[in-house]
Amino acid sequence: MDEIAEQLLQLSANTSTLMAVYDDNDRLRYANLAFRSAYFIERDETPLWPDLMRRNFERGQGTVIHAKNFDEWLRSTQSRRGKIGYRAFETDLMDGRWLWMTEAVQKNGWMLCVASDITTLRAEERSVRQDRDFAVKASQTDELTGVANRRFVMARIEDMLVAAKDGGEGCLAVLDIDNFKHINDRLGHHAGDLVLKDFAQRIHQHVRRSDCFGRVGGEEFVLAMPGTALEDAVEIIETMLTMIRFSRPLTESPDFAYTCSAGVAASLREDTAAELYRRADQALYAAKLGGRDRVRAA
Ligand code: GH3
Ligand code: MG
Ligand code: MG
Repeated sequence: MDEIAEQLLQLSANTSTLMAVYDDNDRLRYANLAFRSAYFIERDETPLWPDLMRRNFERGQGTVIHAKNFDEWLRSTQSRRGKIGYRAFETDLMDGRWLWMTEAVQKNGWMLCVASDITTLRAEERSVRQDRDFAVKASQTDELTGVANRRFVMARIEDMLVAAKDGGEGCLAVLDIDNFKHINDRLGHHAGDLVLKDFAQRIHQHVRRSDCFGRVGGEEFVLAMPGTALEDAVEIIETMLTMIRFSRPLTESPDFAYTCSAGVAASLREDTAAELYRRADQALYAAKLGGRDRVRAA
């Protein structure tokens, strides 16, 4: 086994195929020379994936980013990265190369990325394939906030329940902004939209890569947390609620603050997504009745 591991490392060091391994926190833990040179990573560096992408974007190197602003791109990409077992897509580099990138995630959250150079492969059909990739991205993203949409996050709840059947529990949280109608009525719909964006951005920053956060409608969001015990899920949500409490999202009303309530439920054996959602929603209702700005567990 040691011999194979050693040979594998040597082979990977010498191949032109790009190879990298990220841990469950999305920190780069291994990358071969081909990968390091494509993404400008020093030999002993182990950056977090978002930091690496930001640095390359600022220096105009690495991945070509098709978006008006980097944070928007990061949010929508992170909302989908590493949340399903396997993903494959075309990606282009600032140096003109095209790569076929695959991402395989195992249960403990570690991810293997392998990419091959496809610059000369069926280049004439590339724009059709890119259009398709953009359409897929749009069909999984909430337009206003840039996080995952209902369709994408609901599918991740189904995935979580399938994984939970082999043991390992998962939790679902439903988060709902408090008195949002009042915010709209008092400050206008545009301010309401700014609050929604602020909420999505802030929560997104605290979402672990294995979790999936999405907007399911109006001012209601869900967070699927596979392999997470109820008390840990509640703690994560508490941190999020605290952070929201301190947010001042409206520059024109600098004193304006808002809160949100949440309900959390742990998955049971033989659970359906609808049942799990219903229990989380009941817990949310209890949080609202209890005075809002709090989390309740089912
Ligand atoms: P609670 O604390 O009980 O959750 O009260 P609430 O006012 O937040 O809840 P309610 O469901 O009564 O109101 C939700 C409001 O959200 C009503 C609707 O006009 C508004 N809303 C839904 N989608 C959007 C949106 O995309 N943008 C804006 N600005 N408002 C929206
Ligand atoms: Mg509400
Ligand atoms: Mg609501």
